[in-house]
Amino acid sequence: MRALPATVLAVCGLIASACGGTGTGGAAAGQAAPATTAGQAPAATQAKDAPPEAKDAPPEAKPLDGKVVVIDPGHNGGNYRAPKEINRKVNVLTQMKACDTTGTSTNDGYSEAAFTWDVSKRLQKILKKRGATVKLTRSSNDGVGPCITERAAIGNKAEADAAISVHADGSAPANRGFHVIMPKKINGPVDKVVDDSSSLGVAVRDAFRRGTGLPYSTYIGRKALDYRSDLGGLNLSTVPKIFVEAGNMRNATEAAKFRDPKFRQKIAVALANGLQHYLQA
Ligand SMILES: [Zn+2]
Repeated sequence: MRALPATVLAVCGLIASACGGTGTGGAAAGQAAPATTAGQAPAATQAKDAPPEAKDAPPEAKPLDGKVVVIDPGHNGGNYRAPKEINRKVNVLTQMKACDTTGTSTNDGYSEAAFTWDVSKRLQKILKKRGATVKLTRSSNDGVGPCITERAAIGNKAEADAAISVHADGSAPANRGFHVIMPKKINGPVDKVVDDSSSLGVAVRDAFRRGTGLPYSTYIGRKALDYRSDLGGLNLSTVPKIFVEAGNMRNATEAAKFRDPKFRQKIAVALANGLQHYLQA
């Protein structure tokens, strides 16, 4: 991470006056600026940089202004109704794979699709408030698909600065914790974003741990970081992209947390913080 330029940029983004040169004399500048500054050396430069009138000032700058984020809520609530469509094989470059799956659920029937949809909507709201343009890969939780190939294509088409696929795992009941999955080089289009995806993954891992208090996965990856070359959503991405597996829905402790809207909000805030950290680095 380059600490210095990032900090400077962040300050510019947050406080326009710190970088835009509108600093002092804002109110008076409209009338008397040329006269009062005339004594200083490069008069031409001063005039060019003169601030616009106060009433034309842009709205307050937000930390993610100009950034595009694509959120992919894993699976879809209607997938179980359309096995033929969902099981259709698609090419994910390293293998042929099902178009999508139904996802898992807690033991008492709270589906992964409902969970990922809720967290993604919350995350969208937070990121928009911070200035980002946000696109989701599906528009409801009662539809079917889209295929994993299409989920990747949506991020690519949006030329997202970052893309995140939200999931939760369905592992053995004693297994605990969250993990982040990042792409590997596969001699394919994803290769050029593998390094950025890795940075994104670490930023989200750190923010998720801090924000949710959930442990690193006890059963996958190292320190909650995993790298895979079998996921279409990653292999086909040409923008920095990760998957987050928020925890194990088959573990009673984590299932109870996932059912709690306040905890889902905590997850969404943590993901937003991780994304923001990456996007401002
Ligand atoms: Zn999933």
